[in-house]
Amino acid sequence: MSQRPWTQKLWLAVGGLSLVLLAAAIFTLGSLNAPVHPERSDALVILFALSTFIILAFLVFGLVLLRNLLRLWADRKAGQLGSRFKTKMVFGAMGIALLPLVFLFLFSYSLVNRTLNLWFPKPLEIANAQSQKLLDELGREVHDRLNDRAARAIPIYLSAGARGMMDDSVGPTAPPSAVWALDRNGQILDAAPASLLPDHLHKARLLPSGAEIWQTDGDTYITGSAPFDGGRLYVARKLRPDFLAGFNTIESETDNYQQQRTHIRLYKNQILLALLLITVLLLFSTTWVALFLSKQVTVPIQALAEATQEIARGNFDHRVTVQAQDELGTLVSSFNDMTAQLGEGRRQINEFTRNLQQAFEERERRRKLMEAILENIPTGVLSLDADGKISRVNSAVSTIFGETRVQAHTLSELFGEEAARAVLSLMRRALRMGVASREIEIAASGRLVRTAVTVSSLGPRRSNSGFVVVIDDLTELLRAQRAAAWQEVAQRIAHEIKNPLTPIVLSAQRLKRYLDRFGRSSGPPARMELESLVAECAGLIEREVHTLESLVDEFSQFARFPSARLAPSDLNAIVSSAVALFQGRLEGITLQTNLAPNLATVRADPELLRRVLVNLIDNAAEAMEGSTLRQLRVATRARADGDGVEIEVSDTGHGISPADKDRLFQPQFSTKDRGTGLGLAIASRIVAEHNGTIRVEDNNPIGARFLIRFPAAESPAQVTAPADSVADATGADFESATGFNTDGADD
Ligand code: ADP
Repeated sequence: MSQRPWTQKLWLAVGGLSLVLLAAAIFTLGSLNAPVHPERSDALVILFALSTFIILAFLVFGLVLLRNLLRLWADRKAGQLGSRFKTKMVFGAMGIALLPLVFLFLFSYSLVNRTLNLWFPKPLEIANAQSQKLLDELGREVHDRLNDRAARAIPIYLSAGARGMMDDSVGPTAPPSAVWALDRNGQILDAAPASLLPDHLHKARLLPSGAEIWQTDGDTYITGSAPFDGGRLYVARKLRPDFLAGFNTIESETDNYQQQRTHIRLYKNQILLALLLITVLLLFSTTWVALFLSKQVTVPIQALAEATQEIARGNFDHRVTVQAQDELGTLVSSFNDMTAQLGEGRRQINEFTRNLQQAFEERERRRKLMEAILENIPTGVLSLDADGKISRVNSAVSTIFGETRVQAHTLSELFGEEAARAVLSLMRRALRMGVASREIEIAASGRLVRTAVTVSSLGPRRSNSGFVVVIDDLTELLRAQRAAAWQEVAQRIAHEIKNPLTPIVLSAQRLKRYLDRFGRSSGPPARMELESLVAECAGLIEREVHTLESLVDEFSQFARFPSARLAPSDLNAIVSSAVALFQGRLEGITLQTNLAPNLATVRADPELLRRVLVNLIDNAAEAMEGSTLRQLRVATRARADGDGVEIEVSDTGHGISPADKDRLFQPQFSTKDRGTGLGLAIASRIVAEHNGTIRVEDNNPIGARFLIRFPAAESPAQVTAPADSVADATGADFESATGFNTDGADD
């Protein structure tokens, strides 16, 4: 690119030089001594050289012009940028230049034509021809006369010789200026007057009329002649001494004129050529200047267009390097500045985008972390918008409220009217204080859930964007607290009761022994009656103390419950062994066992777990005593979330009221006359020691369903489960199976 201005300058110099040379040549041609004298050979050489130069220049410039036009045409055809502008400029300039050029050409040519014609005027030519003719006629007449005279003078010459002729004039005419005779060989035989020296006499030339011009020392003669025997007689008249010179001049000038006339075409062609060359030269320079000017516009514009495309492609490092003049130069430098700024802008945007992306990724990472935490904590978390509409819930919410309620959009749909009111008042408090919490009882999935609800507002009242509600299910906690409290109470009661029991029993036994030893068969009737009364009471005391003892045992069992020894166990086997205990004892009850094959192993104490199951089955059988439909279903399955296993014991008994569901697992709760209410409390404890959960829900269509959930042990075990079986059981001797069922514990 940097080469370009240099070559351009060179071309400019060469073009300028050739133009100057050409102008000089044309000027030289104009100032030549035209018409050229052909006898001057150097002029001819110059003429020839000039013609050649002009033709060459004409050809060269013509070709260059043609090439420029063709290139322009090709550019335009190829749709090259700027070619239209160039074409317009060139043709505009040519159009402007062509009219005056054509006029100039025609005018110059006609002017030259006229001037050339003026050089050879017709009247002059006629005069010339006429005088020539006249001269010829005059010459002929003189010649004829002299010939005639010579013919007539021959006899005189033969008699008197040349001298005699001079003396004797023939006829009325004056004597000739000179007379001489030549023999057949052209040797002078005789001559007169005496002053005529025959040795110096010679024929100078022959005139067109046939007359001969002779000369001697200083004298010129025109002659006529006539032949005689032995030679030829010449009669001469003297002419002016400069006659021959004058005649020669006329003749040569006429010749010259004629010759010039024949060259007139050559001159005309020459000048036509020169004019054509000037025209082409002017056209060429016009085109060249137009091209040069348009290039100064189109080249930067093309470079700008290319640069625009480069920038559109995203190459912001591209710069326009073309040298542009004037306003275009300013445009190019502004364009380059703009490109640099754009590049800088793009770089900043890229950096910004990268940072943004990093920030976004970081945010996404945190979001995922938060989500994972939210999904894995047992605490329910809801997010609400500013109007209290639910926008998000975590999976713990579904565990607390059941799957159906999770689809809720409003608080009252999720919590129920009453609890929702409590939550709304918490929200109002949260708006004032930021955070507010309280315990709320929520009826959900058929049970009363005790929860601690904490509401945080996401901003002060005016700019609050929503709330976060955190729900802790306190049921298990409260249950555990109550269980602990009961455990302590049970321990004290057992202790306090057990202490006096032994002396009471011993006393009763002592009384009995005493009576037995002394016999009761003899004695007065009153004494007999007393004795039998004492024996009866002692027996009763002993019996009831035993009952009391077993009751106390239950309490101590509850209080000092043996801790579970967990080992990887097959749940199906435990369930099967529990069900097997009832074989033939479930009168009129349809027992359905669905044990899932390939169940994951759980860490469990088989003995304790079997007790739990026996208690549940026992309760179920009892609940169905008054029912017409008696179906007991025991099932195991993998949990839907894939984490752990589940045991289900469901019946079609009288079911459990929502209020009772929560209290069911408390030690004192029983609806039976002689029930201790400890069975489910112990079951709950055992399950808790297995890190599991036990809950009750309504069975469909009727009855209760107990669900025990265990987390899976680390390694799954292949368990060969018995196929689902439906068994009809008979018999109802349950007590021995439970081991800790307190109903009729004294039996
Ligand atoms: P108990 O059997 O001594 O009453 P439990 O703790 O075993 O003590 O049971 C507590 C109460 O739960 C029972 O009195 C009964 O009202 C209720 N119950 C237990 N299982 C069922 C069931 N399958 N159907 C209906 N009620 C049940």
